[in-house]
Amino acid sequence: MALVRVPAGALYPVVTRSLIVAVLTGVAFDSAEASAYYCAPMLTSRLPSRIEPYRLAARGESLNGLMALDRFERLAAEIGPQSGDCQVWLDFAIDAQGRREIRGRLEAELQLPCRRCLVPMPQDVASEFLLGLVTSDTLAAELPHTHEPALVESEQLNLLELVEDELILSLPQVVYHDEAHCSVSRDQLSSGEELVSNEPAPASPFEVLRQLKGKP
Ligand SMILES: [Zn+2]
Repeated sequence: MALVRVPAGALYPVVTRSLIVAVLTGVAFDSAEASAYYCAPMLTSRLPSRIEPYRLAARGESLNGLMALDRFERLAAEIGPQSGDCQVWLDFAIDAQGRREIRGRLEAELQLPCRRCLVPMPQDVASEFLLGLVTSDTLAAELPHTHEPALVESEQLNLLELVEDELILSLPQVVYHDEAHCSVSRDQLSSGEELVSNEPAPASPFEVLRQLKGKP
């Protein structure tokens, strides 16, 4: 299969996740550059749909667990129905400037439609993100560009929505089967190929989301 675009942050965990040795607790937030996650070999617990992030940040806690992919309706509208789980790692902290933040990572195997034949094909996606907790749009605008805003209402953060947003942002724009395995050959697609390469892709909801979040 050919992958046209992989988010810059996605390669690192894919390539090295089996090599990363767990780095835990206080040292994890000493450096803004630190990418320290506890990589359990297998996550088994289910994450709740809503969490209280300020409390978790005050305690410097971590939340790791699974979310069922079939709960994400916007994702399904974009790429079709999914099964299985998304693995999520979240570290909560208060940084040196007093900001409440979440460093997170997710991994999932999605079924993405091949752009050529539309038959779903398995595709690993992974994403790392840094979120700043805010209680209003005004405060969100004051966050440095290193942080994506995560809106907290009545002490609660909608984790389901947040993980779905990050999953959608981590989608590759286009995937193809290897030509040998695709049910539509290049010959059959001689006119369609041009359509794929020359015409701009139709605007998609997650492209809008990507721009709103300031991701490339
Ligand atoms: Zn195909």
